[in-house]
Amino acid sequence: MIRSVTVYCSSSAKAPPDCFDEATILGNGLAEREIGLVYGGGHVGLMGRTADAVMQAGGTVRGIIPRFLEEREVAHYGITELHVVETMHERKMMLTEWADAFVILPGGFGTLDEFMEILTWKHLGHHRKPIILLNTNGFWDKLLLFFEQIASEGMVGGEYKRFYQICRTAEEVLDLIDEISNTGNAISEKEPHGPGTG
Ligand code: AMP
Repeated sequence: MIRSVTVYCSSSAKAPPDCFDEATILGNGLAEREIGLVYGGGHVGLMGRTADAVMQAGGTVRGIIPRFLEEREVAHYGITELHVVETMHERKMMLTEWADAFVILPGGFGTLDEFMEILTWKHLGHHRKPIILLNTNGFWDKLLLFFEQIASEGMVGGEYKRFYQICRTAEEVLDLIDEISNTGNAISEKEPHGPGTG
């Protein structure tokens, strides 16, 4: 049962408009399902949009932000709970521990770092939580192709594709969350999607 989803996504206000629209759909859908949002605690970019969408639809948002970012005035004070912590590592720990599942939206280095960390931890067997990649307009296609190259050169086994699932739209993410909640299926047993096929 998924009660809480950690979302990793861009802090940039310059992200494409489609990504903002998808963040809104995701946030509204989480609130409708009474699934709490956990995220990096910012009011900026897709982070802020996702949090606002959950709050506006009557949901619950817990943000965790390191003090140095709060001091840069990027914190979101209009959410249910804002936790200010001392280090990035402390924050990342809480973001992962409070999740029943992870959703990754388009983003930059911060989002990539968070995705790689939870993917690596799943690969190492530290957790079995679902990881869902929202591939808006093929945003992640080149990364997924690079994963295939890494696998073809023997750096990682082909089973890596079972560690995450790819959705083309926020609606698909929400459907998948429903399906996982109903079946308790954390690691996909389905044929994985390839780049470009979403
Ligand atoms: P990026 O993809 O580089 O924009 O980084 C976004 C991700 O890194 C988010 O999921 C946050 O957890 C973290 N992060 C990076 N920049 C910020 C910020 N200005 N405010 C809050 N969190 C941030």
